[in-house]
Amino acid sequence: MGKGLVRIILYALIVILPVWLATWLGEEAEGIVTDVGRNFALIGFMILSLQFLLAARLKWIERAFGFDILIRFHKSMALTASGLLLLHPLLIAYGGPGWKLLIGLDLPWPIWAGKVVLLLVIANVLFGFYQSRTNLGFEKWRLVHDLLAPIILILIFLHSWNIGDDLELSAMQGIWGGMFFLAAGMFLHHRFLRPSRLRRQSYRVEDCVQETEDAWTVKLVPPEGRTIGEYYPGQFHFLTFFRDPSLPVEEHHWTISSSPAQKNYLSSTIKASGDFTASIGQTRPGDTAAVHGPFGRFSYLFHPGERDLVFLAGGIGITPLMAMLRHMRDTRDTRSVVLLYANRREDQIVFREELKEIKAGDWPVLTLVYVLSRPGEFWSGEIGHVGRKRIEKYCGRDLTGKTFYVCGPQKMARSLIKTLYNMGVPDKRIRREIFSFLD
Ligand SMILES: Cc1cc2nc3c(=O)[nH]c(=O)nc-3n(C[C@H](O)[C@H](O)[C@H](O)COP(=O)(O)OP(=O)(O)OC[C@H]3O[C@@H](n4cnc5c(N)ncnc54)[C@H](O)[C@@H]3O)c2cc1C
Repeated sequence: MGKGLVRIILYALIVILPVWLATWLGEEAEGIVTDVGRNFALIGFMILSLQFLLAARLKWIERAFGFDILIRFHKSMALTASGLLLLHPLLIAYGGPGWKLLIGLDLPWPIWAGKVVLLLVIANVLFGFYQSRTNLGFEKWRLVHDLLAPIILILIFLHSWNIGDDLELSAMQGIWGGMFFLAAGMFLHHRFLRPSRLRRQSYRVEDCVQETEDAWTVKLVPPEGRTIGEYYPGQFHFLTFFRDPSLPVEEHHWTISSSPAQKNYLSSTIKASGDFTASIGQTRPGDTAAVHGPFGRFSYLFHPGERDLVFLAGGIGITPLMAMLRHMRDTRDTRSVVLLYANRREDQIVFREELKEIKAGDWPVLTLVYVLSRPGEFWSGEIGHVGRKRIEKYCGRDLTGKTFYVCGPQKMARSLIKTLYNMGVPDKRIRREIFSFLD
């Protein structure tokens, strides 16, 4: 967490820098309420500008925390900035010019620009809130978010540049201009320049193999003359497929299910679980895909000293665990792994043959347990769900020294983590990958 801590301190210092400058170099204090109102706006602008940096998937930021934590931080800072910006005019009005600032019509244009910012900020927050709680499509939300965010940035910049006394200081002008161009640059890079570069360097689909009734493994090879970048088993990437023109083009995140020891291709094993993935089986050899990654910290290679692992998988949540098992096999790693793999039915078990082979080999030392909730009449294995009873049965009652890797649908993963807490497993011994960033 050392690197993470440095980044957090840097973030906090950048955010409060203009308040510090305005306090020490700026005009005389105008009263505590007005000053607080002004400082809220200064901090709000800094946070909003840095949002573009957080959203840009920069590896040197992501690697220290993991993508899920970064997304959560991005969301909380959006709420914090919105709260500060909404309080700003209230405090300024209360501390000086009075309510005509809020309800008057005869106001200079920068004040109107500020009012529009507040409306757009509220719209952005509400839209984000309802997207994750209703059936508003993710793609529609992303489009609106991508339109609103730069408009808010431009208007807030114009408002503050033209109205704030603090911006008369050349040091403040330097910070303001710098933050604006940094944010605008990040936005252009993230939404236009990088996607277009990745598209030009698209991987080619070599194969699309059906694993089960509703899951396919797509194998991708890099373009001529390029090699696959380094990644850890268990990490994920963003893929944008370019296929038959009648098929949708969307960017989604999937685990890299191949082993990094395999240098010739990348693969992802994808379940048809929604609007986009319903078409995954129609991917054909020769189609192409823009690949952006790797991301995430869900890999045993981040914790090389841990030798006694328990993998708890639900359904397609097997993919990062499979990448780790493949890597252990390929690198002849003698670690011990207990895999408890839950599915509804036997025919939904993904990678069954390969898991059997890994179990039969020496690397890793694998205990393989399938748990089915709706087995057929000839099933002789475990029936029900993965829970305390089965964890105790296969891992013993004393879980000291074991590290748990949990991956699966949100509900199952959360319930398993709760079970592990109840069994006395400390949080630092539970690693999780939840297959959605929208909670
Ligand atoms: C770290 C991680 C690794 C994953 N690995 C795998 C894997 O190996 N195999 C696998 O089958 N699934 C994996 N998933 C889940 C996969 O990303 C979703 O199933 C897929 O995006 C659903 O898309 P859809 O449009 O078909 O489904 P929908 O039902 O339309 O969407 C399902 C959910 O995904 C959200 N979503 C839709 N589009 C996007 C998007 N472009 N970006 C972000 N969220 C979106 C929706 O809002 C909704 O909550 C992973 C998810 C994460 C977070």
